[in-house]
Amino acid sequence: DRVTDTDAVAVIGLGRFGQSLALELMASGVDVLGIDGQQDVVQRLDGRLTHVVAADATRAEVLRQLSVPEFDRVVVAIGGDVAASILTVSLLLSFDIPQIWAEAVSEPHGTVLQQLGVHHVIYPEKDMGRRVAHLVQGSMQDYIPVGGDFAVVETSPRRAVAGSAISEAQTRRRFGVEIVAIRKNGGGWMFADPDLYIEEGDELLIAGPTRKAEAFSRL
Ligand code: ADP
Repeated sequence: DRVTDTDAVAVIGLGRFGQSLALELMASGVDVLGIDGQQDVVQRLDGRLTHVVAADATRAEVLRQLSVPEFDRVVVAIGGDVAASILTVSLLLSFDIPQIWAEAVSEPHGTVLQQLGVHHVIYPEKDMGRRVAHLVQGSMQDYIPVGGDFAVVETSPRRAVAGSAISEAQTRRRFGVEIVAIRKNGGGWMFADPDLYIEEGDELLIAGPTRKAEAFSRL
């Protein structure tokens, strides 16, 4: 059965977050076993995931029946029902699943998940809120925090760098950020070849400490 390949991912809870995660995995060519307690949710995803099953994930025998203990990667995307989230996670931990991701809807929820030993606790709403805050305030088209106070940012070059070659712009020395890639006239992204000229209207992908990346975007 392909769904128990070690490459496959089990996604438990197919609300807005779990669903979009599961579909994105499918689009990336990863087999997905989707589990949700609600029949109508499961029906809507029928045929779009490798397997999708209506079941209560807080019951050990149900998870065993679905071969969940054999998965290397399981995501618990049960946000609203904190008790169900914790019960499910505790079962997965007892199965010794190597990589468990779990959605937290609040700090206390996240803290409990962490204390239980979940390998990756995610805060989709908090993270998205923070990300959008950066987009709203600056001239960034996209902002991706990579942890450790570092970010990758899509932005348009201002007078400070437009009109010079990437090598001449010396963004690392002057602004503390590195240009990673450049896109001209809505074309495709190109690696930041040092000989390429930066023109106003180009888009740049830059990487650097969050503060510096922010400051550079506002230049
Ligand atoms: P959203 O991700 O849209 O914010 P929720 O976090 O409330 O919404 O969605 C959680 C999903 O998890 C729901 O579709 C719900 O049916 C499902 N769910 C809740 N408890 C269980 C459970 N014990 N077993 C399986 N699925 C569950």
